[in-house]
Amino acid sequence: MGEDAAMAARQFEVDVSEDLLGCKISSPARRTMAAPARCRTCQGVTEASVNRLFDTRFGIPGRFEVQRCRQCGLEQIFPVPTPAQLKELYERFYNFGGERGTVYTTLREWFFCSPLYRLWILLDEDISFHTRQGQGRLLDIGCNEGRTLKNYARNGFQAEGAELNETAAAVARSAGFTVFTGPLDDFILVTPFDVVVLSNVLEHALDPKAMLMSVRRLLKPEGQVWISCPNSESWLRPVFGLSWINWHVPFHISHFSANTLRSLLEECGFTLRETRQMTPALWVAHSLVARLFAEEGKPTRQLRNPLLMFALVGLCRALLFPALALGNRWGRGDCLAVVATRGGDPAVRG
Ligand SMILES: [Zn+2]
Repeated sequence: MGEDAAMAARQFEVDVSEDLLGCKISSPARRTMAAPARCRTCQGVTEASVNRLFDTRFGIPGRFEVQRCRQCGLEQIFPVPTPAQLKELYERFYNFGGERGTVYTTLREWFFCSPLYRLWILLDEDISFHTRQGQGRLLDIGCNEGRTLKNYARNGFQAEGAELNETAAAVARSAGFTVFTGPLDDFILVTPFDVVVLSNVLEHALDPKAMLMSVRRLLKPEGQVWISCPNSESWLRPVFGLSWINWHVPFHISHFSANTLRSLLEECGFTLRETRQMTPALWVAHSLVARLFAEEGKPTRQLRNPLLMFALVGLCRALLFPALALGNRWGRGDCLAVVATRGGDPAVRG
């Protein structure tokens, strides 16, 4: 039997919620689904690498797998939510919805604008390039309510944002920033950018290759893309198992390693200049809280308890720093931070 026939014959038992956020993707709670079993970037055959994942943050119903492409090695969520499902998921659970003035948001706002934050990212990890100085035009894709834009502007850049959530974009605009709110393909480019930032964004894209090609179009010939995303080869993945916070189903569509990210960048016409491994104590604390408290179908409220999180982050940083540093050194950090420049023509994958 050929590979295609074997793949077509393959069936996956996948737990699917009766009503995934009202999107009615299946009627019984458990059913058999034919696996598309094709990589989203190279169309290679995929196979399950992790089973029975559930949302450990918001309590979104549903079970998911992660599948690895046999051809390019990229890991991806399965089943993949449709664009309509994702839109509803983001609007209902994820996006900034205008929440301001609560204890949590007030403390968060104060912290991120204070010198304490800059000290903290020097001590912990700068996963969003907030300490990088420079100049020129910078576009932050997924800028939310513009908090990060203030950091880039303070560091010398002429910062603009792109944000699909209109409510968040309006807050950023009220702070004086230019924010684009449509699909990247609709961005009418007048002056190309020197830098485009994808800080914890690429793993959310349904089509990461298309996103990188759009970024390429927005950049000057030698412009840079700065990418940070979870590392699928993190040593914390086996430690925390299904509670590893970076599974983040169903929002994280792709799980990159240093190799799969480099390959995709090269395929899209970028040249890798720099790869750093980091393990923010905040992410470790998130995984720990998920491991201790997450229950399927229920939101993990402890993740939004500022006192608990602050204490745990401090403890993780203070007690685990040798292990976190070693993990980074061995290429097994929790986060990849990459700088690549726009090079020649995109490669054609053979
Ligand atoms: Zn692939």
